[in-house]
Amino acid sequence: MIPISQAIRIVLQHTPKLASEEVALPQTANRILAEDIIADTDLPPFDRAQMDGYAVRAADVANIPAQLKIVGESAAGAGWHQQMNSGEAVRIMTGAPVPVGADAVQQVELTREPNGAGTVEILESVEVGRSIVKQAAEIKSGAIVLRAGEDLNAETIATLASFGYSQVKVGKRPRVAVMATGSELVDVNEKPGRDQIRDSNNYTIEAYAILAGATVQRLPLAGDDRDELKRQMAAAVGDCDVLVTSGGVSMGVYDFTKAAFRDLGAEIFFERVALRPGKPTVFGRVGKTLIFGLPGNPVSVMVTFYQFVRDALRILQGERDVAPLPTFRVPLSAPIKKAPGRTEFQRGILSPDGAGGWTVRTTGDQGSGILSSMSRANCFIILGTDTGNVAAGEPVDVQLLEGLV
Ligand code: AMP
Ligand code: MG
Repeated sequence: MIPISQAIRIVLQHTPKLASEEVALPQTANRILAEDIIADTDLPPFDRAQMDGYAVRAADVANIPAQLKIVGESAAGAGWHQQMNSGEAVRIMTGAPVPVGADAVQQVELTREPNGAGTVEILESVEVGRSIVKQAAEIKSGAIVLRAGEDLNAETIATLASFGYSQVKVGKRPRVAVMATGSELVDVNEKPGRDQIRDSNNYTIEAYAILAGATVQRLPLAGDDRDELKRQMAAAVGDCDVLVTSGGVSMGVYDFTKAAFRDLGAEIFFERVALRPGKPTVFGRVGKTLIFGLPGNPVSVMVTFYQFVRDALRILQGERDVAPLPTFRVPLSAPIKKAPGRTEFQRGILSPDGAGGWTVRTTGDQGSGILSSMSRANCFIILGTDTGNVAAGEPVDVQLLEGLV
């Protein structure tokens, strides 16, 4: 049995980067950048007014009120490109270029322009540089503004657009095949007969994988039959980058998933992790296809997908620094019972404590009420290997489930 940190390291070590592809700019959110993005212009490309008002020389308005002659107008997209001299002002709009000769902009609220006089009265002084963003103050032409391996989102689209990237190289989406195993399973459209339940894991894994950027193929449900498992896996592995199975990895007489992996010639990198739930999780490889054998319990699927499969899917897309989900220390609002020995992931509910802070409690009995505890949880409470019972008020590690990517 290996600690979870070592298991995560093993997953990171054995996961390669897939090739890249080009996608249109609006499709880049939630993809991983596969090229460096280089600025092809300064930003701003010229000294830019930050306010509506008058471009002036600060020295001209040191004594107020000051009368200046209006010699032109600079609007966004239609600048005034002559020399502005002492005693002069140029009416200017936000986003417009500041004329040569001006060194400050006074906002319109602090000025008065008598009708038809052709002059403006500046009512307050300004210092040099006021309300001007200098050319290249934000980004210099030629600078790398985003690096390969960064994860893209709706905000990074503005940067890509600003530098002319209508098509962007991103990591290919991993192709994931999911396969639920268990002779008790029927599909969602079927009415379970005696001794049967509906499969939920395939759908959970599919949703998680899509959130992590993958495309998903659902394989037919497989019974607890070693040959059937092997046949279905063999048919799938050639067409996918990752095979994720659920069920059949425990010690039961009909748990054949690992045997089927071995029948396929898989290398197994780990098969027991000091983790609860999720101890019998298997990770290996058949040819170039990574294989994850997750335990069948839906809560185990939730924990092990978040801890192992998600990282692999991000790395396959080329993400450079795959970080753990955001983790905080938060005080418990009710005590937790736990025996030392394994790292435990309990489903938690993180909520405001009413005094400006946060507090966390478990979703209740972690053994039963599996589905309701999954859907009510917004975080994992992570209790370390050596941790025993934890009293109310003590801080625990909380890992947010929101923002899977
Ligand atoms: P296993 O890991 O195969 O021993 O399964 C552990 C528990 O999870 C059993 O109660 C199974 O019925 C349940 N289970 C296994 N696979 C699924 C699935 N695809 N959907 C819902 N429950 C499952
Ligand atoms: Mg089973």
